[in-house]
Amino acid sequence: MTKSFMIGSLLGALLVWAVPGRAAAPIRVMLLDGEQGGPYHAWQETSPYLNKMLGDAGLFQVDVVTAPPKDGDFTAFKPDWGKYQVVVANYDVPDERWSEGLKTSFEQYVRNGGGLVSVHAADNAFPNWKEYNLMIGVGGWRGRNEKSGPHFYYQDGKQVADTSPGNAGSHGARLAYKIVNQVTSHPITKGLPKEWLHVPDELYANMRGPGENMTVLSTSWSDPANRGTNHDEPILMVLSYGKGRIFHTVMGHDLAALNCVGFIATYQRGTEWAATGKVTQKVPADFPTADKPQTRAAYNPPAGWTSPTGGPGRGAPRK
Ligand SMILES: [Zn+2]
Repeated sequence: MTKSFMIGSLLGALLVWAVPGRAAAPIRVMLLDGEQGGPYHAWQETSPYLNKMLGDAGLFQVDVVTAPPKDGDFTAFKPDWGKYQVVVANYDVPDERWSEGLKTSFEQYVRNGGGLVSVHAADNAFPNWKEYNLMIGVGGWRGRNEKSGPHFYYQDGKQVADTSPGNAGSHGARLAYKIVNQVTSHPITKGLPKEWLHVPDELYANMRGPGENMTVLSTSWSDPANRGTNHDEPILMVLSYGKGRIFHTVMGHDLAALNCVGFIATYQRGTEWAATGKVTQKVPADFPTADKPQTRAAYNPPAGWTSPTGGPGRGAPRK
């Protein structure tokens, strides 16, 4: 082999590597944060972990878009939704935070095929924004009640829409809970264990909303001994809104809850599905089983970390 041939081969290899479009283009993701209902939802510390999970999947190109704070100036906040295939919402604000124009721009984005991923308390946001609630299907707190829609849960293997009156949104102490995949043929849940154990987290219950075009993929039994409902409450949901796909996960209260391989993998898969309608990721070998939760050292909270506390007032319900 001549030297020039070798250099030529090397150059050729480099050119092949550098030609754009040979590998699939990364999925463009907006990770939206900037406010939550209280310091117990520390978005400043959870967003970097949510971002790292997408980076580690090797499929996504993520821009973090941080909305102005509560008393901030929103006049220049006009996200270029159209640049992204999916928006991951780590964001919980009251109805009045966004102008009608901003809300309409987001509705158009999803209706025209943009994806949305609602993480944990993002389903507390915007209780009276009708279109947002159509996207997420069900939500809790911020004054939601039977007027927001039925309480959706599973009973005897079937989805129930319970219209009896009551406030929306509750949870008990953060304990480990078992998740059951009610739908195993969906790209997000396909190949996962039928049942798997989640690390200690809030098990949202009494979630209410329009629930249109919604499929509950996974549920968990809400234990009355831990202020639960005795129903199988929705944990993972998929929805459509116009041409847009929505993945809704109620897990992920804090850094400890995010460090569950089940959370990580379903979030990575759900984000890909919301963006493209497909899941190309393999189920990780360390996925939890029905009796064994799994965490990853790379997602351990920092040394000395404790779950943030505090809220709007003494005794106020935690979300
Ligand atoms: Zn929470």
